Amino acid sequence: MKKFLTYLGLILIILACMSIIRTFFWTTETATPVPVDSAQTVVIDEQTAAQNLAHALQFKTISEQDTAQIDYAAFDSLHAFLRHTFPRVHARLSLQKFGKSLLFTWQAPNSARKPFALLAHQDVVPVIPGTEQDWQHPPFAGIISDGYIHGRGALDDKASMMALLEAAEYLLGQGFTPERTLYFIFGQDEEIGGARGAARIARYFQEQGIEFDMVLDEGGAIAEGLMPGIDTPIALVGIAEKGYLSIELTVRAAGGHSSVPPKHTAIGILSRAITRLEDSPFPANLRYSTEMMRGLGDKAPFLQRLLFANQWLFAPLLKKVMSGKPSASASIRTTTAVTMASAGVKENVLPIEATAVVNFRILPGETRESVVARVRRIIDDPQVEIRRLGGSDPSPVSRTDSPAFALLKNTIRASMPLPDLAIAPYLVMAGTDAKHFSSLSENVYRFIPFHILQQDMKSIHGTNERIEVENYAQVIGFYIRLFRAAGQ
Ligand SMILES: [Zn+2]
Repeated sequence: MKKFLTYLGLILIILACMSIIRTFFWTTETATPVPVDSAQTVVIDEQTAAQNLAHALQFKTISEQDTAQIDYAAFDSLHAFLRHTFPRVHARLSLQKFGKSLLFTWQAPNSARKPFALLAHQDVVPVIPGTEQDWQHPPFAGIISDGYIHGRGALDDKASMMALLEAAEYLLGQGFTPERTLYFIFGQDEEIGGARGAARIARYFQEQGIEFDMVLDEGGAIAEGLMPGIDTPIALVGIAEKGYLSIELTVRAAGGHSSVPPKHTAIGILSRAITRLEDSPFPANLRYSTEMMRGLGDKAPFLQRLLFANQWLFAPLLKKVMSGKPSASASIRTTTAVTMASAGVKENVLPIEATAVVNFRILPGETRESVVARVRRIIDDPQVEIRRLGGSDPSPVSRTDSPAFALLKNTIRASMPLPDLAIAPYLVMAGTDAKHFSSLSENVYRFIPFHILQQDMKSIHGTNERIEVENYAQVIGFYIRLFRAAGQ
Protein backbone atom coordinates (compact mmCIF):
# COMPACT_ATOMS: atom_id res chain seq x y z
CA MET A 1 0.00 0.00 0.00
CA LYS A 2 2.78 2.36 0.99
CA LYS A 3 4.61 1.59 -2.23
CA PHE A 4 1.44 2.28 -4.22
CA LEU A 5 1.03 5.68 -2.55
CA THR A 6 4.65 6.53 -3.33
CA TYR A 7 4.07 5.64 -7.01
CA LEU A 8 0.84 7.62 -7.09
CA GLY A 9 2.59 10.60 -5.55
CA LEU A 10 5.39 10.34 -8.11
CA ILE A 11 2.90 10.21 -11.00
CA LEU A 12 1.07 13.26 -9.66
CA ILE A 13 4.31 15.19 -9.32
CA ILE A 14 5.32 14.28 -12.89
CA LEU A 15 1.88 15.33 -14.20
CA ALA A 16 2.07 18.62 -12.31
CA CYS A 17 5.57 19.30 -13.70
CA MET A 18 4.41 18.49 -17.23
CA SER A 19 1.45 20.85 -16.87
CA ILE A 20 3.65 23.65 -15.63
CA ILE A 21 6.23 23.13 -18.37
CA ARG A 22 3.47 23.08 -20.98
CA THR A 23 2.16 26.34 -19.58
CA PHE A 24 5.49 28.06 -20.02
CA PHE A 25 5.87 27.04 -23.64
CA TRP A 26 2.26 27.63 -24.49
CA THR A 27 2.11 30.84 -26.52
CA THR A 28 1.63 31.62 -30.18
CA GLU A 29 4.18 33.07 -32.51
CA THR A 30 2.72 34.65 -35.61
CA ALA A 31 4.26 34.44 -39.05
CA THR A 32 7.19 36.46 -40.31
CA PRO A 33 6.99 39.85 -38.65
CA VAL A 34 6.50 42.64 -41.15
CA PRO A 35 8.37 45.74 -40.06
CA VAL A 36 6.25 48.84 -39.65
CA ASP A 37 8.24 52.01 -39.56
CA SER A 38 7.26 53.63 -36.31
CA ALA A 39 10.15 56.08 -36.62
CA GLN A 40 8.58 57.66 -39.70
CA THR A 41 6.81 60.54 -38.11
CA VAL A 42 3.14 61.16 -38.40
CA VAL A 43 2.19 64.68 -37.41
CA ILE A 44 -1.53 65.07 -37.31
CA ASP A 45 -3.37 68.30 -36.76
CA GLU A 46 -5.42 66.89 -33.89
CA GLN A 47 -7.74 69.85 -33.48
CA THR A 48 -8.76 70.10 -37.13
CA ALA A 49 -9.27 66.34 -37.32
CA ALA A 50 -11.40 66.46 -34.15
CA GLN A 51 -13.51 69.30 -35.57
CA ASN A 52 -14.04 67.37 -38.80
CA LEU A 53 -15.26 64.33 -36.89
CA ALA A 54 -17.46 66.47 -34.64
CA HIS A 55 -18.99 67.96 -37.78
CA ALA A 56 -19.60 64.51 -39.28
CA LEU A 57 -21.49 63.48 -36.14
CA GLN A 58 -24.08 66.19 -36.80
CA PHE A 59 -25.55 64.40 -39.81
CA LYS A 60 -28.45 62.25 -38.72
CA THR A 61 -27.60 59.24 -40.83
CA ILE A 62 -29.73 57.05 -38.61
CA SER A 63 -30.61 53.49 -39.54
CA GLU A 64 -34.20 52.70 -38.63
CA GLN A 65 -35.56 49.17 -38.58
CA ASP A 66 -38.49 50.52 -40.63
CA THR A 67 -36.53 51.71 -43.66
CA ALA A 68 -39.35 54.09 -44.70
CA GLN A 69 -38.31 56.21 -41.71
CA ILE A 70 -34.72 56.72 -42.92
CA ASP A 71 -33.75 60.27 -43.83
CA TYR A 72 -31.73 59.69 -47.00
CA ALA A 73 -31.13 63.40 -47.48
CA ALA A 74 -28.91 63.28 -44.36
CA PHE A 75 -26.61 60.91 -46.27
CA ASP A 76 -26.45 63.32 -49.22
CA SER A 77 -25.49 66.14 -46.85
CA LEU A 78 -22.81 63.96 -45.29
CA HIS A 79 -21.41 63.20 -48.76
CA ALA A 80 -21.29 66.91 -49.64
CA PHE A 81 -19.45 67.54 -46.36
CA LEU A 82 -16.92 64.78 -47.15
CA ARG A 83 -16.31 66.24 -50.62
CA HIS A 84 -15.63 69.62 -49.09
CA THR A 85 -13.45 68.29 -46.25
CA PHE A 86 -11.31 65.84 -48.23
CA PRO A 87 -10.59 67.53 -51.57
CA ARG A 88 -7.47 65.49 -52.38
CA VAL A 89 -9.27 62.21 -51.74
CA HIS A 90 -12.06 63.25 -54.07
CA ALA A 91 -9.64 64.45 -56.74
CA ARG A 92 -7.33 61.43 -56.69
CA LEU A 93 -9.48 58.43 -55.67
CA SER A 94 -12.34 57.21 -57.80
CA LEU A 95 -15.75 57.16 -56.16
CA GLN A 96 -18.64 54.84 -56.99
CA LYS A 97 -22.01 55.12 -55.31
CA PHE A 98 -24.23 52.18 -54.54
CA GLY A 99 -27.40 53.87 -53.33
CA LYS A 100 -26.08 55.94 -50.43
CA SER A 101 -23.11 53.63 -49.88
CA LEU A 102 -19.68 54.74 -51.03
CA LEU A 103 -16.79 52.87 -52.60
CA PHE A 104 -13.51 54.76 -52.96
CA THR A 105 -10.73 53.17 -54.99
CA TRP A 106 -7.15 54.29 -54.38
CA GLN A 107 -5.47 52.62 -57.31
CA ALA A 108 -1.87 51.47 -57.02
CA PRO A 109 -0.18 51.71 -60.40
CA ASN A 110 1.15 48.37 -61.70
CA SER A 111 0.80 46.49 -58.46
CA ALA A 112 0.58 42.72 -58.60
CA ARG A 113 -0.34 42.58 -54.93
CA LYS A 114 -3.86 41.79 -53.91
CA PRO A 115 -5.67 44.87 -52.61
CA PHE A 116 -6.81 45.69 -49.08
CA ALA A 117 -10.42 46.56 -48.26
CA LEU A 118 -11.08 48.99 -45.43
CA LEU A 119 -14.64 49.03 -44.17
CA ALA A 120 -16.57 51.50 -42.04
CA HIS A 121 -20.22 52.46 -41.97
CA GLN A 122 -21.95 55.81 -42.30
CA ASP A 123 -25.08 54.95 -40.40
CA VAL A 124 -25.63 55.11 -36.65
CA VAL A 125 -28.22 53.62 -34.34
CA PRO A 126 -31.03 55.85 -33.08
CA VAL A 127 -30.89 57.41 -29.64
CA ILE A 128 -33.10 55.30 -27.39
CA PRO A 129 -36.30 57.28 -26.84
CA GLY A 130 -36.42 58.65 -23.31
CA THR A 131 -32.62 58.75 -22.88
CA GLU A 132 -32.04 62.08 -24.68
CA GLN A 133 -31.77 63.85 -21.35
CA ASP A 134 -29.13 61.43 -20.08
CA TRP A 135 -26.63 62.63 -22.67
CA GLN A 136 -24.01 64.99 -21.30
CA HIS A 137 -24.08 66.74 -24.69
CA PRO A 138 -26.87 66.41 -27.28
CA PRO A 139 -26.13 63.29 -29.37
CA PHE A 140 -26.16 65.06 -32.75
CA ALA A 141 -24.55 68.36 -31.75
CA GLY A 142 -20.95 67.25 -32.37
CA ILE A 143 -19.46 68.86 -29.27
CA ILE A 144 -15.78 68.79 -28.35
CA SER A 145 -15.19 69.21 -24.65
CA ASP A 146 -12.88 67.91 -21.91
CA GLY A 147 -10.60 66.37 -24.53
CA TYR A 148 -13.40 64.28 -26.01
CA ILE A 149 -15.49 64.39 -29.17
CA HIS A 150 -19.06 63.65 -28.13
CA GLY A 151 -21.97 62.29 -30.11
CA ARG A 152 -23.72 59.32 -31.65
CA GLY A 153 -21.23 57.67 -33.99
CA ALA A 154 -18.11 58.91 -32.18
CA LEU A 155 -17.05 55.29 -31.78
CA ASP A 156 -19.55 53.37 -33.87
CA ASP A 157 -18.46 53.99 -36.55
CA LYS A 158 -18.04 57.44 -38.05
CA ALA A 159 -14.69 57.84 -36.30
CA SER A 160 -13.34 54.98 -38.36
CA MET A 161 -14.75 56.30 -41.64
CA MET A 162 -13.43 59.81 -40.96
CA ALA A 163 -10.03 58.53 -39.79
CA LEU A 164 -9.59 56.52 -43.00
CA LEU A 165 -10.31 59.63 -45.06
CA GLU A 166 -8.06 61.81 -42.87
CA ALA A 167 -5.24 59.29 -43.33
CA ALA A 168 -5.66 59.27 -47.11
CA GLU A 169 -5.91 63.07 -47.29
CA TYR A 170 -2.74 63.37 -45.18
CA LEU A 171 -0.73 60.94 -47.30
CA LEU A 172 -1.96 62.46 -50.58
CA GLY A 173 -0.69 65.79 -49.26
CA GLN A 174 2.75 64.19 -49.06
CA GLY A 175 2.59 62.88 -52.60
CA PHE A 176 2.17 59.29 -51.39
CA THR A 177 1.07 56.52 -53.76
CA PRO A 178 0.03 53.19 -52.25
CA GLU A 179 1.92 50.09 -53.27
CA ARG A 180 -1.23 48.07 -53.46
CA THR A 181 -4.74 49.19 -54.29
CA LEU A 182 -6.80 50.27 -51.31
CA TYR A 183 -10.58 50.24 -51.28
CA PHE A 184 -12.63 52.23 -48.77
CA ILE A 185 -16.11 50.84 -48.36
CA PHE A 186 -18.59 52.94 -46.41
CA GLY A 187 -21.94 51.17 -46.15
CA GLN A 188 -25.18 52.95 -45.38
CA ASP A 189 -26.98 50.30 -43.34
CA GLU A 190 -24.62 48.22 -41.20
CA GLU A 191 -26.84 48.67 -38.18
CA ILE A 192 -29.72 46.95 -39.96
CA GLY A 193 -27.74 44.14 -41.59
CA GLY A 194 -25.82 45.80 -44.41
CA ALA A 195 -27.87 44.36 -47.30
CA ARG A 196 -27.97 47.58 -49.33
CA GLY A 197 -24.43 48.66 -48.51
CA ALA A 198 -21.59 46.27 -47.76
CA ALA A 199 -23.40 43.19 -49.09
CA ARG A 200 -24.12 44.91 -52.39
CA ILE A 201 -20.55 46.16 -52.75
CA ALA A 202 -19.21 42.70 -51.85
CA ARG A 203 -21.33 41.29 -54.69
CA TYR A 204 -19.81 43.87 -57.03
CA PHE A 205 -16.30 42.67 -56.10
CA GLN A 206 -17.38 39.08 -56.65
CA GLU A 207 -18.62 39.93 -60.12
CA GLN A 208 -15.34 41.71 -60.86
CA GLY A 209 -13.33 38.73 -59.58
CA ILE A 210 -11.49 40.93 -57.08
CA GLU A 211 -10.19 39.34 -53.87
CA PHE A 212 -8.31 40.89 -50.97
CA ASP A 213 -5.18 40.16 -49.01
CA MET A 214 -6.86 41.79 -46.05
CA VAL A 215 -10.29 43.08 -45.13
CA LEU A 216 -10.37 45.34 -42.09
CA ASP A 217 -13.55 46.46 -40.38
CA GLU A 218 -14.85 47.47 -36.95
CA GLY A 219 -15.53 44.94 -34.20
CA GLY A 220 -12.37 44.88 -32.08
CA ALA A 221 -10.66 47.57 -29.99
CA ILE A 222 -8.17 48.10 -27.21
CA ALA A 223 -9.88 47.25 -23.95
CA GLU A 224 -8.85 47.56 -20.36
CA GLY A 225 -10.18 45.86 -17.27
CA LEU A 226 -12.08 43.41 -19.40
CA MET A 227 -10.58 40.19 -18.15
CA PRO A 228 -10.05 39.28 -14.54
CA GLY A 229 -6.40 39.23 -13.55
CA ILE A 230 -5.17 41.19 -16.58
CA ASP A 231 -4.36 44.83 -15.90
CA THR A 232 -2.58 45.60 -19.15
CA PRO A 233 -4.58 46.87 -22.12
CA ILE A 234 -5.47 44.21 -24.69
CA ALA A 235 -5.92 44.82 -28.40
CA LEU A 236 -8.69 42.42 -29.32
CA VAL A 237 -8.58 41.63 -33.01
CA GLY A 238 -11.78 39.99 -34.22
CA ILE A 239 -10.99 36.96 -36.38
CA ALA A 240 -14.60 35.79 -36.71
CA GLU A 241 -18.08 36.86 -35.81
CA LYS A 242 -21.02 34.95 -34.49
CA GLY A 243 -24.06 34.19 -36.60
CA TYR A 244 -27.55 35.49 -35.89
CA LEU A 245 -30.88 33.75 -35.89
CA SER A 246 -34.31 34.37 -34.44
CA ILE A 247 -36.88 31.63 -34.22
CA GLU A 248 -40.59 32.11 -33.63
CA LEU A 249 -42.39 29.48 -31.61
CA THR A 250 -46.16 29.25 -31.94
CA VAL A 251 -48.70 27.11 -30.15
CA ARG A 252 -52.32 27.14 -31.32
CA ALA A 253 -55.22 25.86 -29.24
CA ALA A 254 -59.00 25.65 -29.33
CA GLY A 255 -59.64 28.41 -26.81
CA GLY A 256 -62.86 28.54 -24.79
CA HIS A 257 -63.88 29.49 -21.27
CA SER A 258 -61.23 29.43 -18.57
CA SER A 259 -63.61 27.65 -16.18
CA VAL A 260 -63.13 24.37 -18.07
CA PRO A 261 -59.49 24.45 -19.08
CA PRO A 262 -57.42 21.63 -20.59
CA LYS A 263 -54.45 20.35 -18.59
CA HIS A 264 -52.13 22.71 -20.49
CA THR A 265 -53.20 25.88 -22.27
CA ALA A 266 -51.32 27.23 -25.30
CA ILE A 267 -49.31 29.35 -22.86
CA GLY A 268 -48.44 26.34 -20.73
CA ILE A 269 -47.28 24.33 -23.74
CA LEU A 270 -45.20 27.26 -25.01
CA SER A 271 -43.70 27.82 -21.56
CA ARG A 272 -42.63 24.19 -21.36
CA ALA A 273 -40.89 24.52 -24.73
CA ILE A 274 -39.11 27.67 -23.55
CA THR A 275 -38.00 26.02 -20.32
CA ARG A 276 -36.61 23.06 -22.24
CA LEU A 277 -34.57 25.40 -24.43
CA GLU A 278 -33.22 27.40 -21.51
CA ASP A 279 -32.36 24.26 -19.61
CA SER A 280 -30.36 22.82 -22.50
CA PRO A 281 -27.72 25.38 -23.39
CA PHE A 282 -25.67 24.70 -26.50
CA PRO A 283 -22.46 22.75 -25.89
CA ALA A 284 -19.37 24.75 -24.95
CA ASN A 285 -16.40 25.04 -27.30
CA LEU A 286 -13.19 26.51 -25.90
CA ARG A 287 -11.47 27.05 -29.24
CA TYR A 288 -11.81 30.86 -29.45
CA SER A 289 -11.06 31.52 -25.81
CA THR A 290 -8.03 29.28 -26.19
CA GLU A 291 -6.75 31.25 -29.19
CA MET A 292 -7.21 34.46 -27.24
CA MET A 293 -5.43 33.11 -24.19
CA ARG A 294 -2.55 31.89 -26.32
CA GLY A 295 -2.28 35.30 -27.94
CA LEU A 296 -2.12 36.94 -24.52
CA GLY A 297 0.87 34.76 -23.64
CA ASP A 298 2.55 35.70 -20.40
CA LYS A 299 0.29 38.75 -20.00
CA ALA A 300 -2.37 36.35 -18.76
CA PRO A 301 -2.21 35.22 -15.12
CA PHE A 302 -0.32 31.98 -14.59
CA LEU A 303 -3.31 30.08 -13.25
CA GLN A 304 -5.45 30.86 -16.28
CA ARG A 305 -2.64 29.87 -18.61
CA LEU A 306 -2.14 26.67 -16.67
CA LEU A 307 -5.80 25.78 -17.07
CA PHE A 308 -5.96 26.63 -20.78
CA ALA A 309 -2.62 25.00 -21.60
CA ASN A 310 -3.73 21.75 -20.01
CA GLN A 311 -7.21 21.24 -21.29
CA TRP A 312 -6.72 17.47 -21.37
CA LEU A 313 -7.16 17.84 -17.62
CA PHE A 314 -9.00 21.11 -17.05
CA ALA A 315 -11.46 21.51 -19.95
CA PRO A 316 -14.50 20.42 -17.89
CA LEU A 317 -13.57 22.80 -15.08
CA LEU A 318 -13.00 25.70 -17.51
CA LYS A 319 -16.33 25.09 -19.23
CA LYS A 320 -18.12 24.97 -15.91
CA VAL A 321 -16.58 28.17 -14.56
CA MET A 322 -17.02 30.10 -17.83
CA SER A 323 -20.62 28.97 -18.25
CA GLY A 324 -21.42 30.64 -14.94
CA LYS A 325 -20.74 34.12 -16.28
CA PRO A 326 -22.91 35.47 -19.15
CA SER A 327 -20.09 37.26 -20.98
CA ALA A 328 -17.72 34.30 -20.73
CA SER A 329 -20.49 31.86 -21.58
CA ALA A 330 -21.34 33.81 -24.74
CA SER A 331 -17.74 33.43 -25.92
CA ILE A 332 -17.82 29.64 -25.77
CA ARG A 333 -21.24 28.69 -27.10
CA THR A 334 -24.24 29.55 -29.22
CA THR A 335 -26.42 31.59 -26.89
CA THR A 336 -30.17 31.23 -26.39
CA ALA A 337 -32.20 34.31 -25.43
CA VAL A 338 -35.99 34.33 -25.23
CA THR A 339 -36.71 37.93 -26.13
CA MET A 340 -40.43 38.27 -26.95
CA ALA A 341 -43.66 36.57 -25.98
CA SER A 342 -47.34 37.26 -26.47
CA ALA A 343 -50.54 35.39 -25.74
CA GLY A 344 -54.01 35.82 -24.34
CA VAL A 345 -56.54 38.64 -24.61
CA LYS A 346 -58.62 38.37 -21.46
CA GLU A 347 -58.14 36.89 -18.03
CA ASN A 348 -61.05 34.43 -18.28
CA VAL A 349 -60.55 33.38 -21.92
CA LEU A 350 -58.31 30.49 -22.95
CA PRO A 351 -55.68 31.73 -25.39
CA ILE A 352 -56.04 30.45 -28.94
CA GLU A 353 -52.45 31.28 -29.74
CA ALA A 354 -49.19 31.82 -27.87
CA THR A 355 -45.97 32.95 -29.54
CA ALA A 356 -42.43 33.62 -28.45
CA VAL A 357 -39.28 34.73 -30.22
CA VAL A 358 -35.94 33.22 -29.29
CA ASN A 359 -32.74 34.90 -30.45
CA PHE A 360 -29.60 32.84 -31.01
CA ARG A 361 -26.03 34.06 -31.55
CA ILE A 362 -24.35 31.21 -33.34
CA LEU A 363 -20.80 30.05 -32.69
CA PRO A 364 -18.63 29.49 -35.79
CA GLY A 365 -18.76 25.83 -36.69
CA GLU A 366 -22.53 25.69 -36.34
CA THR A 367 -25.13 26.97 -38.82
CA ARG A 368 -28.68 28.34 -38.72
CA GLU A 369 -29.78 24.94 -39.99
CA SER A 370 -28.05 23.02 -37.23
CA VAL A 371 -29.49 25.39 -34.63
CA VAL A 372 -33.04 24.86 -35.88
CA ALA A 373 -32.51 21.10 -35.92
CA ARG A 374 -31.29 21.17 -32.33
CA VAL A 375 -34.18 23.40 -31.21
CA ARG A 376 -36.64 20.93 -32.75
CA ARG A 377 -34.93 18.05 -30.97
CA ILE A 378 -34.87 19.79 -27.58
CA ILE A 379 -38.46 21.04 -27.69
CA ASP A 380 -39.61 17.64 -28.93
CA ASP A 381 -43.26 18.65 -29.11
CA PRO A 382 -45.32 18.58 -32.34
CA GLN A 383 -47.75 21.12 -30.84
CA VAL A 384 -45.01 23.78 -31.07
CA GLU A 385 -44.60 25.28 -34.53
CA ILE A 386 -41.07 26.44 -35.26
CA ARG A 387 -40.49 29.21 -37.79
CA ARG A 388 -37.14 30.65 -38.79
CA LEU A 389 -36.83 34.44 -39.08
CA GLY A 390 -33.90 35.42 -41.34
CA GLY A 391 -30.48 35.91 -39.80
CA SER A 392 -26.99 34.99 -40.95
CA ASP A 393 -24.59 32.10 -40.47
CA PRO A 394 -21.44 32.67 -38.43
CA SER A 395 -18.42 33.86 -40.40
CA PRO A 396 -15.48 31.62 -41.20
CA VAL A 397 -12.49 32.03 -38.88
CA SER A 398 -9.62 34.07 -40.32
CA ARG A 399 -5.99 33.08 -40.08
CA THR A 400 -3.67 34.35 -37.38
CA ASP A 401 -0.53 32.96 -38.99
CA SER A 402 -0.74 35.10 -42.13
CA PRO A 403 1.52 38.01 -43.10
CA ALA A 404 -1.61 40.21 -43.06
CA PHE A 405 -2.21 39.43 -39.38
CA ALA A 406 1.45 40.09 -38.58
CA LEU A 407 1.26 43.41 -40.44
CA LEU A 408 -1.81 44.35 -38.45
CA LYS A 409 -0.16 43.45 -35.15
CA ASN A 410 2.95 45.44 -35.95
CA THR A 411 0.94 48.43 -37.09
CA ILE A 412 -0.98 48.37 -33.82
CA ARG A 413 2.27 48.25 -31.84
CA ALA A 414 3.83 51.08 -33.86
CA SER A 415 0.75 53.29 -33.50
CA MET A 416 -0.13 52.95 -29.85
CA PRO A 417 2.03 54.37 -27.05
CA LEU A 418 1.26 51.35 -24.87
CA PRO A 419 4.43 49.36 -24.21
CA ASP A 420 2.52 46.74 -22.22
CA LEU A 421 -0.10 46.17 -24.88
CA ALA A 422 -1.13 42.57 -25.43
CA ILE A 423 -2.64 41.64 -28.80
CA ALA A 424 -4.99 38.72 -29.01
CA PRO A 425 -7.42 37.26 -31.52
CA TYR A 426 -11.01 37.02 -30.40
CA LEU A 427 -14.52 36.17 -31.45
CA VAL A 428 -16.83 39.14 -32.12
CA MET A 429 -20.21 38.62 -30.45
CA ALA A 430 -22.10 41.18 -32.54
CA GLY A 431 -22.45 41.43 -36.30
CA THR A 432 -20.37 43.63 -38.62
CA ASP A 433 -20.32 44.41 -42.34
CA ALA A 434 -17.18 42.26 -42.58
CA LYS A 435 -19.33 39.13 -42.73
CA HIS A 436 -20.33 40.03 -46.29
CA PHE A 437 -16.67 39.86 -47.31
CA SER A 438 -15.97 36.38 -45.93
CA SER A 439 -15.68 34.77 -49.32
CA LEU A 440 -13.39 37.51 -50.66
CA SER A 441 -10.45 37.06 -48.31
CA GLU A 442 -8.82 34.57 -45.95
CA ASN A 443 -7.81 37.49 -43.75
CA VAL A 444 -10.90 39.30 -42.56
CA TYR A 445 -10.13 41.18 -39.35
CA ARG A 446 -12.24 43.37 -37.14
CA PHE A 447 -10.27 46.01 -35.31
CA ILE A 448 -9.94 49.76 -34.81
CA PRO A 449 -7.45 51.02 -32.21
CA PHE A 450 -10.09 52.73 -30.10
CA HIS A 451 -8.77 52.72 -26.58
CA ILE A 452 -11.98 52.05 -24.75
CA LEU A 453 -12.17 52.33 -21.00
CA GLN A 454 -14.63 50.09 -19.25
CA GLN A 455 -16.99 52.96 -18.42
CA ASP A 456 -17.26 53.85 -22.13
CA MET A 457 -18.01 50.30 -23.23
CA LYS A 458 -21.77 50.75 -22.75
CA SER A 459 -21.78 54.02 -24.70
CA ILE A 460 -21.72 52.11 -27.98
CA HIS A 461 -25.39 51.95 -28.95
CA GLY A 462 -26.05 53.55 -25.52
CA THR A 463 -25.72 57.05 -24.11
CA ASN A 464 -22.76 59.45 -24.00
CA GLU A 465 -20.85 57.93 -26.88
CA ARG A 466 -17.52 59.71 -27.17
CA ILE A 467 -13.90 59.35 -28.26
CA GLU A 468 -10.85 61.00 -26.82
CA VAL A 469 -9.30 63.57 -29.17
CA GLU A 470 -5.85 62.09 -28.59
CA ASN A 471 -7.04 58.56 -29.27
CA TYR A 472 -8.77 59.69 -32.45
CA ALA A 473 -5.44 61.07 -33.71
CA GLN A 474 -3.87 57.68 -32.92
CA VAL A 475 -6.53 55.96 -35.02
CA ILE A 476 -5.62 58.22 -37.95
CA GLY A 477 -1.94 57.48 -37.35
CA PHE A 478 -2.71 53.76 -37.33
CA TYR A 479 -4.31 53.93 -40.79
CA ILE A 480 -1.46 56.10 -42.14
CA ARG A 481 1.09 53.51 -40.99
CA LEU A 482 -1.02 50.68 -42.35
CA PHE A 483 -1.22 52.31 -45.79
CA ARG A 484 2.50 53.01 -45.82
CA ALA A 485 3.33 49.44 -44.85
CA ALA A 486 0.72 47.92 -47.15
CA GLY A 487 3.21 47.51 -49.96
CA GLN A 488 5.22 44.94 -48.05
ZN1 LIG B 1 -20.77 49.64 -36.02
